[in-house]
Amino acid sequence: MFIKRLPKFVYHVPKSASEALDLLTQYGKTAKVYAGGTDLLVAMKKREIVPEHLINLKGITELKGIHYDEKEGIKVGAAVTLADIEHSNVVKEKFCALWDAVNVMASPQVRTLGTVGGNLCSAVPSADTAPPLIAMGASVNLLGPHGERKVLVQDFFGGPKESVLQKNEILTQILIPNLPPRSSGAYLKLMRRNALDLAIVGVAAFLRLDSDKRLCSEARIALGAVAPTPIRAPMAEEVLLRKEIDEVLAGKAGEASSVVCRPISDMRSSLEYRCTMVEILTKRAILEAYRRIC
Ligand SMILES: Cc1cc2nc3c(=O)[nH]c(=O)nc-3n(C[C@H](O)[C@H](O)[C@H](O)COP(=O)(O)OP(=O)(O)OC[C@H]3O[C@@H](n4cnc5c(N)ncnc54)[C@H](O)[C@@H]3O)c2cc1C
Repeated sequence: MFIKRLPKFVYHVPKSASEALDLLTQYGKTAKVYAGGTDLLVAMKKREIVPEHLINLKGITELKGIHYDEKEGIKVGAAVTLADIEHSNVVKEKFCALWDAVNVMASPQVRTLGTVGGNLCSAVPSADTAPPLIAMGASVNLLGPHGERKVLVQDFFGGPKESVLQKNEILTQILIPNLPPRSSGAYLKLMRRNALDLAIVGVAAFLRLDSDKRLCSEARIALGAVAPTPIRAPMAEEVLLRKEIDEVLAGKAGEASSVVCRPISDMRSSLEYRCTMVEILTKRAILEAYRRIC
């Protein structure tokens, strides 16, 4: 594919979120915010979008930092890079499904530039951070001219490259509630090679066990790259509830998770292969989350 040079644009570096919003209001449809540029600049080179104004969010302090609180959980600024998440001990230890995802994304170079906010706002069905965030019950803060609103990540996506984010809003923070005792998660990704590739299938599992660590008291399964948006698999979750987790039960949940899949066939994989691999990866993600609790 022939990639052209970047089209001409005016570059803005706001110092605060409110300054970024003012610029968005001033330049309207001709403006685009960007963070790492690893999605946006590629799209601009391909002339899929040609904004006249680029508003860089990376200089905004409010959008930076990873803050953990034992009661509230973790707050990750939208402009936090994937590498920052990868190197965060608190994410690795307490929110390991997100760490699993970031660890298998792109390459070290892309992770150094790319952000978690940009990954969600690109809103592609294969966005790797989406399934673990959905499985952990995360939400995002969206800031617009009339204030801030909070949206669950599972309600954020509207279709391929579409989300509930309005033209004059920016995503400021990702909030993951503290995970309860006897709970954990895992994210598994199938790709054609071991790095620098988008997911053929991505599966995140979150499990909580009862006080005897015997029965499953809470389960959330989220799937990526198998529908127009990242999705939950409620029938798979139902299979696990109030049961003892073992290989057979995890396999049944895997079968149930493929029921909600609506994948496409493309250069990465056929529809049938994606559905089969959802079954297998769901089973493995459940068993890995269970292993991490026990
Ligand atoms: C070689 C390569 C490999 C890749 N591999 C993977 C992979 O394995 N998995 C994967 O999921 N992705 C992958 N990607 C895609 C990309 O790197 C990620 O989606 C990355 O997280 C995007 O973040 P960014 O900061 O670069 O976003 P940008 O390119 O800066 O922005 C992306 C979009 O989000 C909007 N945006 C960004 N931040 C905000 C905000 N705070 N508020 C509102 N809108 C915002 C922008 O306007 C733009 O529309 C890959 C990309 C490349 C080039």
